[in-house]
Amino acid sequence: MGSLAKVSTTRPVLHAPLLNRLRLCSWVFLSYRESHNGNHHPKALLRSPSFLAATPAASSLIRSCSRASRHNRGLTVFAMAASDEPAAKKVDLSKELALFPESSPQISASSGDPGSWKGDLLAIGIFEDCLSDKSGEGGVFGNAELADLDGSLDGILTELIEKAEFKGKQGSSTFTRLKGNAHYVGVVGLGKKSAAASVPDWGVSCYQGFGSAVAAAAKQHKSSSAAVAVVGAPLSEVAVEKFTVGALLGGYEAHRFKSKPAPSPLKSLDILSAGSDAASAIARGQGAAKGVLLSRYLVETPANICTPTYLAKAAAVIAESAPDVFQLEVIEEDACKEMGMGCFLGVTACSEEPAKLIHLTYTPKGEVKKVVGLVGKGVTFDSGGYNLKVGGMIDMMKFDMGGAAAVLGAAQALTSLQPPGVQVHILTAACENMIDGKGMRPGDILQAANGKTVEVNNTDAEGRLTLADALWFAQEKCGVEAVVDVATLTGACMVALGNQVAGVFTPSEAMAASLKDASKNAGEKIWRMPMEDSYWEQMKSPIADMKNTGGRMGGAITAALFLREFVNIDKVEWAHVDIAGPAWDEKAGGATGFGALTLAEWAAAQGSS
Ligand SMILES: [Zn+2]
Repeated sequence: MGSLAKVSTTRPVLHAPLLNRLRLCSWVFLSYRESHNGNHHPKALLRSPSFLAATPAASSLIRSCSRASRHNRGLTVFAMAASDEPAAKKVDLSKELALFPESSPQISASSGDPGSWKGDLLAIGIFEDCLSDKSGEGGVFGNAELADLDGSLDGILTELIEKAEFKGKQGSSTFTRLKGNAHYVGVVGLGKKSAAASVPDWGVSCYQGFGSAVAAAAKQHKSSSAAVAVVGAPLSEVAVEKFTVGALLGGYEAHRFKSKPAPSPLKSLDILSAGSDAASAIARGQGAAKGVLLSRYLVETPANICTPTYLAKAAAVIAESAPDVFQLEVIEEDACKEMGMGCFLGVTACSEEPAKLIHLTYTPKGEVKKVVGLVGKGVTFDSGGYNLKVGGMIDMMKFDMGGAAAVLGAAQALTSLQPPGVQVHILTAACENMIDGKGMRPGDILQAANGKTVEVNNTDAEGRLTLADALWFAQEKCGVEAVVDVATLTGACMVALGNQVAGVFTPSEAMAASLKDASKNAGEKIWRMPMEDSYWEQMKSPIADMKNTGGRMGGAITAALFLREFVNIDKVEWAHVDIAGPAWDEKAGGATGFGALTLAEWAAAQGSS
């Protein structure tokens, strides 16, 4: 807030000179003061433009202050303005738009010898099976190449492995300081060699874990150069790609809103045991990591910065980075009204931030064989509305645009993947869910663009209302043949699957299978949940076509059943992915960027199916 300007009045109406002064202020604080003791009695704190727009209401407030003043002789009424700056002055968000870290390490591949590599940090990836059970005769190694490397490093690997009781388990690592060519040397566990597929059945690849461990160690030991090697076999292309993703995501920390950010000092990372064609694998990994980073950046950005307008600007940055294949359309509230999007507009009704229907289109070069859609929930802040979030979670609710962040992250990844044969419509109906006199009330009936009516029995179940109209748009205006919606939709899904696994709901076996494949490639965990029709009973309304929430039990399922009402499932293949759990991981530093890679992989695969 700027300086406080006192505007004194004893007149019971909003007279012209006072009005003119208040026009220049962004906030108005009304109070009256007792002259004998100087006590202030606060009356109202109002944002100036909306206060002045309702001049009769403002006058009546001043009248009530004046009445108090007359009633108690010797009182003076003050209208204190919080700033003399014009209320219209707005921060230029484009200056603050940050979608990626300011610097990332350069990743390269060479066939250098790890034993003679010079630099800050050397990490050796070791499979469990390369270590022998007994550290007696023959040493700790069950692998001659590893024993040779240990020899050229003066036995430091043996020392590390024995001291830390290192067994090569995936996720384990240990580093030590050295006076040799490398200042720090460490070992990173890759698990069992037989299980070390580049694309594992469940979760993150051991090579991605390797990359993350190296990035974390480089940060911890303030290393600006690092090199890695896996003894035994050259890394496959997919392994190099996964390693790159891990290395670029592993050093992540949400520090950009701190006055003294501490970015990782890692500048260069050399993969010493890559096979041929590593450069294109590294490039693919970089493209994927950029998608996840964009998602993380958007999710961690607080709601006072990441508004629907901010999301639209992020979409513009993506579109401008690949203008030959991307197109952006930002649809304003008026146009949404014309299309009858009553559910979406009901949610945004009282927000001061204008809602935006953001529509990015990826069109491949060459023939389009299939048209698909990715629809993300983009509620940039969810207060719950009149069903206010009174539990502990309200301070987290900037993350309620995690679905939008996932689809925009997927779009970012598509800028480098550029898959043939598939046109991808990326949509988010972005808005806030706030409280004010114009806000949607419990019991209100809204009509969606597809004509169906909804009795809003809970204003905190707003995401599905925005998705209902966005799904309609994807089908009617974009002509999608298959569509995935992704949303931080229900606490019930978090209860069911925890914060590592997303829930997938679909009536289509083909969609379930294609999403499962995509999630494996992405290293993200998803689990199919049932669409139990009998639970629809809970959603029946005596007055409208449906309610927007059922009971507490099976809440993730009834949410999916609700969304199904807005999809023509006879014509369009559809799946709903609830990422309320995995979108945020406090232990891993907050925003995860979950979903971006699964969606990008899924969309890319549709061109060949
Ligand atoms: Zn909500």
